[in-house]
Amino acid sequence: MKKLFLIIGAPGSGKTTDASIIAQNNGAIVHYSTGDMLREEVASGSALGCEIEGYISKGALVPLDIIVNTIVTAINNAPVDTVLIDGYPRSTEQMTAFDVLVAKEENIELASVIEVRVSEQVARERILGRRAEAAPGQERSDDSEEVFNDRMKIYTDPLAEIQAFYTQKNLLKVISGERTLEEVVADMEAFITSKP
Ligand code: AMP
Repeated sequence: MKKLFLIIGAPGSGKTTDASIIAQNNGAIVHYSTGDMLREEVASGSALGCEIEGYISKGALVPLDIIVNTIVTAINNAPVDTVLIDGYPRSTEQMTAFDVLVAKEENIELASVIEVRVSEQVARERILGRRAEAAPGQERSDDSEEVFNDRMKIYTDPLAEIQAFYTQKNLLKVISGERTLEEVVADMEAFITSKP
């Protein structure tokens, strides 16, 4: 049985960094970032990767079938039973599709949805700072101010509905991302490891 934690947060919330540190600290926890998995597919140079790059470079969401397939494959192939996935769901469509899937899948239990919460201003400062600090050739194609605005809007638009859905299921856990990395990681790690 796979115990799954979904981690959502604005671009710049630190969700990928937090989750990867927690997985490094715990041999029984594995972490996948939807953005990283999609970028790996792009880097592979496959036809699918080429299609995905068209969405990522604009800050748009990749189509439902691609992202669902990506995360289900990752969960099923995970080498350990506690799986952290950050960056999903990012739309009500993804939320509903996953709910149907989890209800059918006897092998997956959704333990919690963790929201790493930061203000839009903090998110913007972090993302635009990340771009300024990136080594030449290492910049993310989607870290420009214009694309940031689109990514932020895409994150914010469905958020209230996503929060309401998981609150009603008693699955939503909100963690403040406006603290030091160590504090956020400690808080999230304690929560994840305390879940039976
Ligand atoms: P991230 O690294 O989480 O900021 O994601 C980078 C980009 O990958 C996003 O702007 C989207 O284009 C794509 N992406 C990541 N997660 C998803 C998802 N759940 N659904 C659709 N597209 C996604």
